[in-house]
Amino acid sequence: MSLSVLANVSLKPYNSFGVEARAEAFAEAHDDNDVREALALARQRELPLLVIGGGSNLLLTGDIHALVVRMASRGKRISSEDCQHAVVEAEAGEPWHPFVQWTLENGLCGLQNLSLIPGTVGAAPMQNIGAYGVEIKDVFSGLTALHRETGELHEFSGEECAFGYRDSIFKQQPGRWLILRVRFRLAYSADLKLDYGPVRQRLEQMGVSKPSPLDVSRAISSIRAEKLPDPAVLGNAGSFFKNPLVCAELAKQLREAYTDLVAYPQPDGKVKLAAGWLIERAGWKGFRDGDAGVHALQALVLVNHGHATGLQLLDLAQRIQADIANRFGVELEMEPNRY
Ligand code: FAD
Ligand code: NAP
Repeated sequence: MSLSVLANVSLKPYNSFGVEARAEAFAEAHDDNDVREALALARQRELPLLVIGGGSNLLLTGDIHALVVRMASRGKRISSEDCQHAVVEAEAGEPWHPFVQWTLENGLCGLQNLSLIPGTVGAAPMQNIGAYGVEIKDVFSGLTALHRETGELHEFSGEECAFGYRDSIFKQQPGRWLILRVRFRLAYSADLKLDYGPVRQRLEQMGVSKPSPLDVSRAISSIRAEKLPDPAVLGNAGSFFKNPLVCAELAKQLREAYTDLVAYPQPDGKVKLAAGWLIERAGWKGFRDGDAGVHALQALVLVNHGHATGLQLLDLAQRIQADIANRFGVELEMEPNRY
């Protein structure tokens, strides 16, 4: 037995909202054996098992009657390569941003637009993390997951992961699979995506005319650091709502009513609206009720000013949802995983 299990553990340090919630049992899994041991123990104690990574996409709304397992496995490697590409593999517990930096230091291009996203490699496929025009599905090669009921290992292809906008089979089937390690196919030549938001402008401000993938990473990191609250200073889980995809007719009506509406037509005919614009337009930006609030610089981010509970944050989120539905006829879907 190598797994160390603690009882009645505060999860405050393990969720980026910094809300208080206690886990009935808590352990850190450093390798596949620890994961298997945790699953066996949970079964033996008749406890559900909740796997977490960095806790940056969680809303804990109360104490957790479960064995909470934090993935702490480490290891990253180039598993195969030719002169143009390499497949890199990382263990689930590897912190995401340092992993991205490691790929760039190895001359590999593909993950730079996903710089400075908090969390772990193992959680990245859960919602097909995305930013600045890139999602992991664009460079995904495969992953190894453990079926939590049968204990069998399964190798997932990209197709099997059913990646969508902030979505995957793992999000659709919560509690079924535990992701152990993830692989990405990256390129030794640079194919940069710069036409998204202020990326190109920031590179110009940095005096970079021929950007490398590392320059793009630096530019995006600097934009993010200015715009997003640092969870170590102000608790948050990034964007609290997904950007809604609405039918073209509703988007047209809204554009007639609001000429400054931020909307992006999609290849399937739907239109993606900027949820942050809707929330800001409805007057919620900077709103605060006790310690639960809406960030003053980015209306899409709910924040914990100190001692907000998960339920208070959830209540605020539901009030925003109801207001946006009432004003604009648009349903906002929450992004963080709620427990
Ligand atoms: P956790 O929050 O610990 O877990 C998230 C979910 O994944 C839970 O349901 C958990 O049970 C499950 N899970 C975790 N690990 C595993 C595993 N190994 N196997 C199976 N299930 C697992 N997201 C974006 O997409 N784009 C962004 O640009 C972005 N920016 C952010 C900025 C900030 C400031 C913050 C706080 C968050 C941001 N996020 C963003 C959200 C979040 O960082 C990502 O979703 C991240 O991938 C979550 O990783 P995590 O390890 O913290 O997962
Ligand atoms: P932003 O640049 O202010 O843009 C607002 C929204 O409009 C974004 O959410 C983005 O949607 C969309 N958008 C912007 N330019 C677009 C384009 N050229 N084509 C299509 N859609 C476009 O966004 P931001 O809040 O500063 O965030 C920047 C990026 O980081 C975004 O990609 C965002 O998703 C990501 N991010 C995610 C989280 C999270 O927790 N999920 C947190 C912070 C930042 P998309 O979100 O679909 O890209």
